[in-house]
Amino acid sequence: MLLREAAPGAIAEVGPARLRRGLLAWYRRHRRDLPWRRSRDPYRIWVSEIMLQQTQVATALPFYQKFIERFPTLAALARARSPEVLSRWAGLGYYRRARNLHEATRIVVREHAGRVPADAQAFGRLPGVGRYTTGAVLSIAFDHSLPVLDGNVARVLSRLLALPASVRDPRGARALWRAAESLVPARGAGEWNQALMELGAQVCLPRAPRCDDCPLRAPCRARAAGRVEAFPPRVARRPTERSRWAMVLVRHGGRLLVVRREGPLLAGLWEPPAVVLEDGASARVALAATLRGLGLRARLEPTGRTVRHAITHRAIETELWRGRAIGPTPRSARLRYVDPARPGVAMTALARKAARADVEE
Ligand code: SF4
Repeated sequence: MLLREAAPGAIAEVGPARLRRGLLAWYRRHRRDLPWRRSRDPYRIWVSEIMLQQTQVATALPFYQKFIERFPTLAALARARSPEVLSRWAGLGYYRRARNLHEATRIVVREHAGRVPADAQAFGRLPGVGRYTTGAVLSIAFDHSLPVLDGNVARVLSRLLALPASVRDPRGARALWRAAESLVPARGAGEWNQALMELGAQVCLPRAPRCDDCPLRAPCRARAAGRVEAFPPRVARRPTERSRWAMVLVRHGGRLLVVRREGPLLAGLWEPPAVVLEDGASARVALAATLRGLGLRARLEPTGRTVRHAITHRAIETELWRGRAIGPTPRSARLRYVDPARPGVAMTALARKAARADVEE
């Protein structure tokens, strides 16, 4: 069966009305009480949806509460300065999400009189807002009949309909979006979308799904065929790019010298001076050149430690060096000494790992 034919046929067979009744009844009994579920404020729902991308609910929860305490309204976030927004996001990672959200709230203030646009096209044009976020925010806040597709929903749909489609592959993602579209109700879409996500998070788990507790066990085609593990199909991952870095930790009175990153990746975040090592390059020479570029001189010693860090398909292995500063640190808005243990400093995840790995002798 071709993928594009699979979804509608399977849904008709399963019966959308029966599906919805069963799943919604389960959701009303079992949903977790989460702060963003107590609100219909589109700004608060938007913040939660952005935080929950690539982040577990338990991790996001305390950040969400503190973020909303500090920026209770869209206008408050739009007014804030970027370093403060990033520092309130520190620890959640994927800072691009915070930057986009901040920029988007400023656009909403400028172009939409401070009100989150309820129109899918207008909302979808904002930075960091894709089809998933549009569907989630507008269905939950405004009850628009729009589907969502995240990893949890994709897994439930692939199994329920025995659809050999993975969200990681563009063709599979299109088939899954069509399936999600066919199921989303004209009214109550927000509750339906949340129910699907909740089922994926609590019952239809990636490994060892709890089929005996599932409200969809009767119509589930993968379960009927005894092939739950076959769905969604595995897709080969993109090969990992490996790179070797060197980083120098210069301390002063327990604080660590950091430099503000510039350029397209992680701009505005802080980390100790670091350099990417070309094949065969000497870390000592490369680090000394990096420090000179910052107007610094230091005696360099290897620590013998490395830290490993992965960002999507990149694996970075970083040699850690220790630096004893020679002479004063130049005055520069790009350089500062910070206490890396303080949560409010917007440091890269690699910098935090490096600071923890290096213990002063
Ligand atoms: S019956 Fe099992 S595989 Fe099917 S939707 Fe429910 S938990 Fe997932």
